[in-house]
Amino acid sequence: MAQVNLRNVVKRYGALQVVHGVDLNIDDNEFVVLVGPSGCGKSTTLRMIAGLEAISGGEIVIGDRVVNDLPPRHRNISMVFQNYALYPHMSVRENLGFSLKIAKKTQAEIDQAVDEAAEILSLTEYMDRKPGALSGGQRQRVAMGRAIVRHPDVFLFDEPLSNLDAKLRTQMRTEIKKLHQKVNSTIVYVTHDQVEAMTLADRIVIMRDGHIEQVGTPLEVFENPANTFVATFIGSPP
Ligand code: ADP
Ligand code: MG
Repeated sequence: MAQVNLRNVVKRYGALQVVHGVDLNIDDNEFVVLVGPSGCGKSTTLRMIAGLEAISGGEIVIGDRVVNDLPPRHRNISMVFQNYALYPHMSVRENLGFSLKIAKKTQAEIDQAVDEAAEILSLTEYMDRKPGALSGGQRQRVAMGRAIVRHPDVFLFDEPLSNLDAKLRTQMRTEIKKLHQKVNSTIVYVTHDQVEAMTLADRIVIMRDGHIEQVGTPLEVFENPANTFVATFIGSPP
């Protein structure tokens, strides 16, 4: 686990500025959810933390390192996307272990990490199946398992449940909460779904147009919205 600190982080695409000086301090082992309408800069912010997008200004610190110029593989983060691409020709076990194999870990190290992840995510019965023989929820658990095996300091999730139906989405929220309790990691989670944000977050970060409108616990934000935008978005009583 590690702290993640954003200091006056800016993102521009050419002349278009999409993130306007974001300041955010995320604690060790904290579950923080970035929420806001489509296009407000959530994914861009997450991708800058991951190192998948260069920042145009400011500073990002993970643990005790300024990571502005570090490539993703040196940041000790794992990212789970909405369109999790599992390898269709590989078994669940092979999917889970693949990144470790690439990283030249020994077979014993791979087996241990894979078995541990399978246990945490209740995948032990499915280890020999191919992704095509799994349900949507099982596939999503494999995608999370692939993130866990690398023992990252920080997990980044970008709308990981938005392709699932409503019932499964609710179930997976519980799974993700459990995952957080078991693996002791810092989580930065992006969603446009306010209910998902309120259910999962230790603290919720409400974004609009590349700015942070409010940061607080779900209760603080609900009971004491900073402005009309937040109140409307969260659905606080007037
Ligand atoms: P969110 O995840 O909150 O829906 P994004 O972070 O994906 O929002 O996008 C924020 C803004 O940046 C949007 O206006 C989007 O169109 C713009 N944007 C994202 N990626 C690019 C890109 N590669 N080039 C230009 N504009 C982009
Ligand atoms: Mg997005």
